[in-house]
Amino acid sequence: MKTIIILGGGIGGIVTANELSSGKNKEQKIILIEKNKEHTFAPSYLWLMNGSRKKKQISVSLLSLLNKNIEVVNAVVDEIVPAEKKINADGKEFHYDFLVIALGADLAPEKIQGWDESIHSFYTYEGAAKLNEALKYFAGGKVAIVISSMPYKCPGAPHEGAMLIEDFFTAKGIREKVEIDLFTPEPQPLPVAGPELGGAVKIILDQKGIQFHPLMQLSSVDTKSKRIFFNGKEPFEYDLLIVIPPHQSPAVIRKTDLANANGWIDVNPASLQTKYENVFAIGDITSLPLPGRWIPDKPMMLPKAGVFSHLQADVVAKNIVRKINGVKADEKFCADGYCMLEAGEDLAGFAYGDFFGEPHPQVHLKKIGRKWHIGKVLFEKWWLSPVGIKKVFYKNLLQLGGKLIGIPVKL
Ligand SMILES: Cc1cc2nc3c(=O)[nH]c(=O)nc-3n(C[C@H](O)[C@H](O)[C@H](O)COP(=O)(O)OP(=O)(O)OC[C@H]3O[C@@H](n4cnc5c(N)ncnc54)[C@H](O)[C@@H]3O)c2cc1C
Repeated sequence: MKTIIILGGGIGGIVTANELSSGKNKEQKIILIEKNKEHTFAPSYLWLMNGSRKKKQISVSLLSLLNKNIEVVNAVVDEIVPAEKKINADGKEFHYDFLVIALGADLAPEKIQGWDESIHSFYTYEGAAKLNEALKYFAGGKVAIVISSMPYKCPGAPHEGAMLIEDFFTAKGIREKVEIDLFTPEPQPLPVAGPELGGAVKIILDQKGIQFHPLMQLSSVDTKSKRIFFNGKEPFEYDLLIVIPPHQSPAVIRKTDLANANGWIDVNPASLQTKYENVFAIGDITSLPLPGRWIPDKPMMLPKAGVFSHLQADVVAKNIVRKINGVKADEKFCADGYCMLEAGEDLAGFAYGDFFGEPHPQVHLKKIGRKWHIGKVLFEKWWLSPVGIKKVFYKNLLQLGGKLIGIPVKL
């Protein structure tokens, strides 16, 4: 009997556990350790922010998403000792044969100099709900959306957020009273996805009258005078400030020798194995350089996105099963990713392509339309519905949609 421990019950952890447990392998015990009992679907935070969703519509019990033959431990992982194949969670010790680390990225808004509770963010469940209230009562003025630092989850999300906010004020009838400014330390929108996609997103932002400010590195905020300071640039006065907070790896990882100098975990790009045999890391916790891409003197990394956590989970689960069965573990991760970019008015764009493409990622944006928005809604319904029969309906629809556009949809 082999014990497989999965750390983290977010997107990557859920897919790994279900994929492992749906096989016919009897010689395995699957344990998933997660600190939260409820699972919230992060891509839907944007719809919570603009009032399209209520909190309870995007939150479900973690157990409802997992196959029954998975042992779920509700605890905080506080120690990982790969040399001894050992985990500690809430004072209890666990031993493994295979370990999958899917602990995601933590947000650290307190790292922003001058940060306080008046600063909003749609990057958390509570934050998105609170921002919805603030948007409802906003009567006009300057809305600043600031990407505080890199890396950050889902490179499309800040731009989607800006477009949905623009749409919100248009629907409220006060668009002409609101200025929307998006600031980023990056040279263009979504540089990780290559120049074509960045250019296309910039055009849409321009059309919506959203001011895009590249190469703006946040240095501090003064919430009393409502000013944002950027390195070497003029301060900016705001009325409503929304930030994408700094991201960091969970403290438990930073305490181990699995963490690189930046705190993330280096993995083999094809197998996702860490420097330890049979210890894998997937999703936001990893650091995977994009071939041939640098900004300006540091390698550019594969974006932290659910689509990649999902695909990597699938690869790792299949290879673990093969290893247990004594078969060559040759499933490989390829970074063909996709994203539906919400643009407001129930419209979305669809970006798809090879993020490992050379000389730069080859990601293309399809024409904005309602069908991509419907695709995103279907994906949300599929993800949040209980594991089993209820998923079949959405799964079939998504796979049929994928077939029609010639893109294999792995669910
Ligand atoms: C607003 C927003 C919109 C997004 N939109 C998209 C999108 O459209 N498409 C897309 O692909 N991605 C999107 N993402 C990104 C996506 O949500 C993440 O990339 C994805 O969730 C990462 O999966 P993961 O499994 O690596 O980590 P997570 O899903 O974050 O899971 C990590 C889990 O580990 C748990 N955990 C952490 N530390 C501990 C500990 N010490 N002990 C126990 N448990 C612990 C956490 O509670 C969490 O459940 C979006 C993100 C945001 C914030």
